[in-house]
Amino acid sequence: MLARFETDVLHSVKKNKQPIKSKVTPIYQTTAFTFADLDELEGYYQGQGNYLYSRVGNPNTDELAEAIAALECAPAGVATSSGLSAILAGVLAVVKSGDHIVAAEDLYGGSFHLLKEELSQFGVEITFVSFEERSSIESVIQSNTKLLYTESITNPLLRVQDIDEFVQIAAKHNLITLVDNTFATPYHCQPFTKGVDLVVHSATKYIGGHSDVTSGVLVGRQDLLEKARAKVVNLGTNVSPFEAWLTTRGLKTLAIRMERQSRNAKELAKALLENKLVEKVYYPFEHGENGYGAIVTIKLSNSVDVNEFFKNLSWVKIAPTLAGVETSVSHPVITSHRALPEEARNALGITMEVVRISVGIEHAADIISVFDQAIQQASK
Ligand SMILES: *Cc1c(COP(=O)(O)O)cnc(C)c1O
Repeated sequence: MLARFETDVLHSVKKNKQPIKSKVTPIYQTTAFTFADLDELEGYYQGQGNYLYSRVGNPNTDELAEAIAALECAPAGVATSSGLSAILAGVLAVVKSGDHIVAAEDLYGGSFHLLKEELSQFGVEITFVSFEERSSIESVIQSNTKLLYTESITNPLLRVQDIDEFVQIAAKHNLITLVDNTFATPYHCQPFTKGVDLVVHSATKYIGGHSDVTSGVLVGRQDLLEKARAKVVNLGTNVSPFEAWLTTRGLKTLAIRMERQSRNAKELAKALLENKLVEKVYYPFEHGENGYGAIVTIKLSNSVDVNEFFKNLSWVKIAPTLAGVETSVSHPVITSHRALPEEARNALGITMEVVRISVGIEHAADIISVFDQAIQQASK
């Protein structure tokens, strides 16, 4: 990388390589590219630059993939239509029918569904297990296990994965590792630099950062990315040029957004710890002096009417997503973790009183007061 993260995040987006030197790469809103003659066309297949067809490759989608790969210090990347399609490409680059995946039991609900409902239909075996203890992970590894899969900071209870230990377990059992780094972003954590093979992002979240684009990025080892890129091309899960362009535009402010949002999140979490009507505050306080991620999850005490709390949130929007510049709240049981069986949810502690707050870039004091007020007014 070039310099410090705040500089890299801007300049990992390469200078426009096209003949007309616009300051920002224009949107190549085209399905295909043209050729002067058969020699030029043959040249494409010989690997001499240029583009052929946008599902296979496009300057905007490549720009996004290269920028995230650079920030994660990985040699290769591919941009996709969503976080889930990036996960799918990563998983399919590693496993085939008959193989086994060991995944953390507290994965994002959509990822859980993808593995359990879809991949299992193609003969891929999956075991979900607690990743808190090394022994519980190792106890479910089988002779056909190929992949270990976790999130660097989990959703919604914000468990921080010990990446070094995760990599050690994989090395011992000769497994490929995949980390979903959506919540941490490369601002806080760069799993590839610690030996993880594949790193995935729902760029819909902090990478894009403005709640206006759905996209994903997978980065990692060159050999695995070649396979993953083929999956994206063959399955047609490429991202559109415009969405890639918007994501790249959002990426440029990642460092300042994460800095402010993480600091605000830590302040809010601290304030909520003092609130008697909040039974539990989930925030990785011990990681990062100025905050570690911008999600704060709380469990309201049973003397708070949860629905009233949501109604009283003044300017804070209720939205089944996270990571935008505006503070928003969601209810995991009704939305993101609906796919998880109730029993599994309860065992994890994801109950009706649990509220996930995505902290934005507003003034911390305003964020704190809006939550204090909403909780107070909903007190029974
Ligand atoms: C949102 C999310 C996803 C899925 O991303 P989409 O862009 O919605 O497909 C995957 N992992 C995590 C941690 C997420 O928060």
